[in-house]
Amino acid sequence: MHSPWDYPDFDDHEIVHFLTDRATGLRAVICVHSTHLGPGAGGVRFWHYGKSGDAVRDALRLSRGMSFKNAMAGLALGGGKAVILADEARTKTPEMLAAYGRAVERLGGAYVTAEDVGVGVPDLVEVSKQTRYVSGLPVAAGAVGGDPGPHTSYGVFLGVRAAARRALGKDSLAGLHIAVQGAGSVAGGLARLAAKDGARISIADIDQARAQKVADEVGGTVVAPDAIMTLEADILSPNALGAILTEESIAALKVPVVAGGANNQLATPADGQRIHQRGILYAPDYVINAGGIINVATEYLKDGDQATVQGRIEQIPVRLEQIWAESAVTGRNPAEVADAMAMRLIGRA
Ligand code: NAD
Repeated sequence: MHSPWDYPDFDDHEIVHFLTDRATGLRAVICVHSTHLGPGAGGVRFWHYGKSGDAVRDALRLSRGMSFKNAMAGLALGGGKAVILADEARTKTPEMLAAYGRAVERLGGAYVTAEDVGVGVPDLVEVSKQTRYVSGLPVAAGAVGGDPGPHTSYGVFLGVRAAARRALGKDSLAGLHIAVQGAGSVAGGLARLAAKDGARISIADIDQARAQKVADEVGGTVVAPDAIMTLEADILSPNALGAILTEESIAALKVPVVAGGANNQLATPADGQRIHQRGILYAPDYVINAGGIINVATEYLKDGDQATVQGRIEQIPVRLEQIWAESAVTGRNPAEVADAMAMRLIGRA
């Protein structure tokens, strides 16, 4: 049995709040890794875990990840994350969400909740009846807020361009071949922006029809899901799942650049070193995919309009450049450099 402080992913969390509400069946854990830069912000996941310890580990890892992501995006927010432990049937009731909302409220603003896997806008509307500390709610047309996907795509596009500049000496994506994994919200937006910039798109999704739709829109080609990672191309842009960069997959890559929006692309920290040793330029995922959280944060903090959001997203390639420059000077891999920068920003160097 682990002591909570000995959890490998505990990493000096400021708050770990375990909840049980017998009346509604709610079991949840709310984690706040750091409030150094502001309230710990991050979504709440609703998921069925085989073991409750796995839920705690997931919440801790995701919460720490949010500290890093928010800091590197230049936001006045710390990092936090919550997990609601679903039963096997994934029973979710308004009463359960209300109990969760009351718990968030009791933390007095140390944690700000939002959407994540299994939690959508209607759920957050229920939560918001109990707490002020919630973001990602429906907004009026023209106001900052709403679907973060297009903002994530825009940031990923700018990051892909920055990578093309650094690794390939290109000022635009014109004539470059991009292998896009996934054809969902982030991938679709990226494919459209890249194609408009002159890129040739190959795209794969386990949902073939989705891939075909995006391919038709951008004049691209559909590739089988198991072939996209080994396609010969100028850039691989992972925009589907996490943990896709492993010892085996890295050895098989046929691209000089990996830059995409999927969360947690590196299966382990050692894979950050492996991809670097192969001479492939890697864009740390939580830096390049921060466009969505930038939009969510600007909505929550009410500190800007759509032009502010755009200006903040345009800092993503600047931050990536800093990381790659430091990596070139120190020889440390970009993922490691990004983590060290984030630790400095949250006062934990
Ligand atoms: P989405 O659900 O719209 O799209 C994901 C797509 O990936 C789906 O079409 C799915 O069929 C496909 N997919 C799943 N497994 C696949 C596989 N093995 N091969 C090919 N395709 C596969 O999700 P999204 O919002 O576009 O998010 C994509 C990724 O970006 C996720 O990792 C997410 O965590 C990350 N992300 C999203 C945002 C955002 O604002 N939406 C922000 C930051 C990070």
